[in-house]
Amino acid sequence: MHANYINGRWFEGASAEPNINPSDLTETIGAYAHADEVQAKEAIDAACSALEAWQFGSIQARADSLDMIGSELLSRRQELGRLLAREEGKTLPEAVGEIVRAGYIFKYFAQEVLRIDGRLTPSVRPGMMVETLREPVGVVGIITPWNFPMAIPAWKIAPALAFGNTVVFKPAELVPGCAWALAEIISRSGIPAGVFNMVNGPGSVVGAAMTSDTRINALSFTGSVATGERIAKALAGRATRLQMEMGGKNPLIITDDATLERAVECAVQGAYYSTGQRCTASSRIIVTPGIYDRFVEALKSKVESLVVGHALDGDTQIGPVVDERQLEQDLAYIAIGKAEGATLAYGGQRVARPTNGLFLQPTLFVDCDNTMRICQEEIFGPVAAVIPAASYEHALVLANDTPFGLCAGICTNSLSLAQHFKTRSRAGMVMVNAPTAGVDYHVPFGGTRASSHGPHEQGFAAQEFYTTTKTAYVCA
Ligand code: ADP
Repeated sequence: MHANYINGRWFEGASAEPNINPSDLTETIGAYAHADEVQAKEAIDAACSALEAWQFGSIQARADSLDMIGSELLSRRQELGRLLAREEGKTLPEAVGEIVRAGYIFKYFAQEVLRIDGRLTPSVRPGMMVETLREPVGVVGIITPWNFPMAIPAWKIAPALAFGNTVVFKPAELVPGCAWALAEIISRSGIPAGVFNMVNGPGSVVGAAMTSDTRINALSFTGSVATGERIAKALAGRATRLQMEMGGKNPLIITDDATLERAVECAVQGAYYSTGQRCTASSRIIVTPGIYDRFVEALKSKVESLVVGHALDGDTQIGPVVDERQLEQDLAYIAIGKAEGATLAYGGQRVARPTNGLFLQPTLFVDCDNTMRICQEEIFGPVAAVIPAASYEHALVLANDTPFGLCAGICTNSLSLAQHFKTRSRAGMVMVNAPTAGVDYHVPFGGTRASSHGPHEQGFAAQEFYTTTKTAYVCA
């Protein structure tokens, strides 16, 4: 049994639930504790009690602990990558890459601990000086989704701790293995009891206990739009600081002058890798007339060649869908696409493999219209829609015609088009000749409009959410 970690100790939950491998539904990875509301409250109690000593403790010790966590993640990348691939379904190289990324995130924020600084400003009043200091926000609640079970917890937990906050972390129920492994590493890092707590369990119970508790000073959430709306409502009227990363319907524009091979590579990588289960996935591929037919043909032949299979098989390029519910959602959207009149160029079927897993063909719709539901709603599976555009200007209008604004890409060899798109795209992140998915770990991450709420995450942006400024007036 894998227990919850509260106040420096391990506790069994109200129940224990199996963690199932989506590549092989007959394989149980382990049993993991599910907390109830009482246990969630105990974790918040612990985080409140531990705050003062952590906030005013040694920053060298804080930096050393975060660096140690990063080092252990890096040195155990293969083993933890296997665990991640087994519970989430992304391929082993992708999973190992995610562990490495999490390791570097902890190491980056270990250094950030030593860079917290303030300002000294002359006052308008003679004899007075004004100091502006950065302080932790307090107790931070962290609620994460299943699609990046190590990287997303890392990019929230590391800055929260680095800037002197205490943490109550609730991972997604589908991926407790990585959360438990990370908590176990943190438990041996020298971080005092109560500073970091991990309570696995249902969002409606543990998540709701966190959003209803006024002792949580800041809440960072990544997940679906529907849950984000629920959380925002739960916090409405309260002073809790809120950061949310939600969906995307990310466009990738291919212009007439693009290099064909590069454009196809960006589309395939962005739309189908990690089984399309990324909020930054290129789910809308918008193509101008001079390259449309050549691009569609080349993309189709590449998609047909993708190998779908068990996440741990060396040949696999596309792993399984994470669970039955997500598979049903993907199949439902494929049916919607057909009913809306989109042309199914490839895929759309569940496929059998030697193991009993949730395997879905990469699915390509072409000749789509941007108003179709498959072009407006996030599917979160290996499904992409190619949309013809009359010109670059038209493509730009279509790219921005979405409620979301997470990431947007363009494949072009024109410096002026790239420059124009970079400034006119209404997304929070823009890629030129690169897939929309796949970002660096040391720079800000986040979107606009329905994709994101509050300050962005990671890099230098992280301190905006995880610290607050104090202004001190000192008269000599
Ligand atoms: P995904 O399907 O991408 O995991 P969800 O929005 O369903 O997206 O879940 C993201 C996280 O939010 C999970 O950890 C989930 O348990 C949690 N969650 C779900 N419902 C609630 C809720 N009512 N309050 C707080 N957290 C919730």
